[in-house]
Amino acid sequence: MTEHTDVLVVGGGATGAGVARDLALRGVDVTLVDRDGLGSGTTGRSHGLLHSGARYADTTPEDARECVQENEILRETAGACVRDTGGFFVQLADDDPEYFEEKLAACESAGVPVSILDGDTAREREPGLAADAERVAVVPDGVVYPSRLVAATAADAREHGTTIRPHAPVDGLTTDGDRVTGATLADGSTVNADHVVNAAGAWADQIAATAGVALDMHPTKGAMVTVGVSGVDTVLNRCRPASDGDIVVPHADSVVLGTTSVEVEDPDDFVESTAEVERVVDECSALLPDAADATVDRTYWGVRPLYSPADYGDDARGISRGFYVLDHADRDGLAGLTTVVGGKLTTYRLMAEATTDLVADRLGVDAPCRTADEPLAAHDDPERLDALVAEFDAGGPADADVR
Ligand SMILES: Cc1cc2nc3c(=O)[nH]c(=O)nc-3n(C[C@H](O)[C@H](O)[C@H](O)COP(=O)(O)OP(=O)(O)OC[C@H]3O[C@@H](n4cnc5c(N)ncnc54)[C@H](O)[C@@H]3O)c2cc1C
Repeated sequence: MTEHTDVLVVGGGATGAGVARDLALRGVDVTLVDRDGLGSGTTGRSHGLLHSGARYADTTPEDARECVQENEILRETAGACVRDTGGFFVQLADDDPEYFEEKLAACESAGVPVSILDGDTAREREPGLAADAERVAVVPDGVVYPSRLVAATAADAREHGTTIRPHAPVDGLTTDGDRVTGATLADGSTVNADHVVNAAGAWADQIAATAGVALDMHPTKGAMVTVGVSGVDTVLNRCRPASDGDIVVPHADSVVLGTTSVEVEDPDDFVESTAEVERVVDECSALLPDAADATVDRTYWGVRPLYSPADYGDDARGISRGFYVLDHADRDGLAGLTTVVGGKLTTYRLMAEATTDLVADRLGVDAPCRTADEPLAAHDDPERLDALVAEFDAGGPADADVR
């Protein structure tokens, strides 16, 4: 069987769903395919922190500025896909007070709203916070429910004409000389397209390789542990240079502890190390002592789709968390193919906008981006959101307790 679409988007994580929605809102005919359920890659296995930008303010201020902007947009447009909790950057007794000052200055410079609480006042708001918390920077972090976000985004794309096809793995891209013409799927069918967007995340190099293009992907795994601590209402971050086990994300009756960052060869085949899990629990317990002996509800792993053509040294934390839109016509002399990699769940809409701007230009489409202003489908209806999650088989472990 052979179908035709204007744009084939490969990868139904948040980024691919975001691209499909943005293109559809600009009047483009789109087919979105994923090899499994939507969000089954990294999206449904993330930590679920809606970044305020504070985490990146001192190291990569541009990433911080993107997070501030996108955090505000998602609060306006994503309804019950996000939860406004606020976040603390906590200086414990052993932490460097100068780093706290640097974080404050960096937040102010990057436009991240920030205020300060002393330890006692912070504990009045979060009674479980460690007794040696000396002071806290308050920032607009929040919680994002990835399964709902990807389902609402895909549903919105569908309402604007997109065909959504979970469980439709791509075997390979098809080419005609120096142009990508579509893809063959594992069921033997072909989708012909005027343009293909490779949004396959940590698997983007595998998709690109089928058209003879090499990508410098550096997938890095991270462990998350959900434990039964209730009553936490604020995202807790340790105020120190990014390291293992420094973020606690609150859900209704549990918290998600994380994470680690270790480069892996194969995003489908890596060691789920007990030592990493124990380190996450130990380190996060310094912020939230009740986590140390709490029941473990579930442990899960995700793989970051990081891209780095440049040398980044020995530590995978040195790899950029920014995003890249690769125009393969310019980069490799291969027309009809655009890849989007890197980035964060928080910035998925912006990644989609940048990708769609390029693809629209290639297709001669003038319509502007509307995704920053138009609310997502079903955003204000949690029951319908969860029905969409079920329909698209989009339920990942990150928010399994919410549905
Ligand atoms: C441990 C960890 C914690 C994180 N925490 C946060 C956080 O708290 N906040 C935040 O903002 N970001 C966080 N991130 C980053 C964020 O989760 C990712 O950047 C984002 O989800 C990537 O989305 P994506 O759509 O680009 O990739 P993915 O979600 O991986 O989507 C790619 C899709 O391509 C599909 N695919 C692969 N091969 C094929 C094929 N052959 N055919 C068809 N489809 C295919 C996959 O099934 C997958 O669904 C975290 C990441 C990790 C790993």
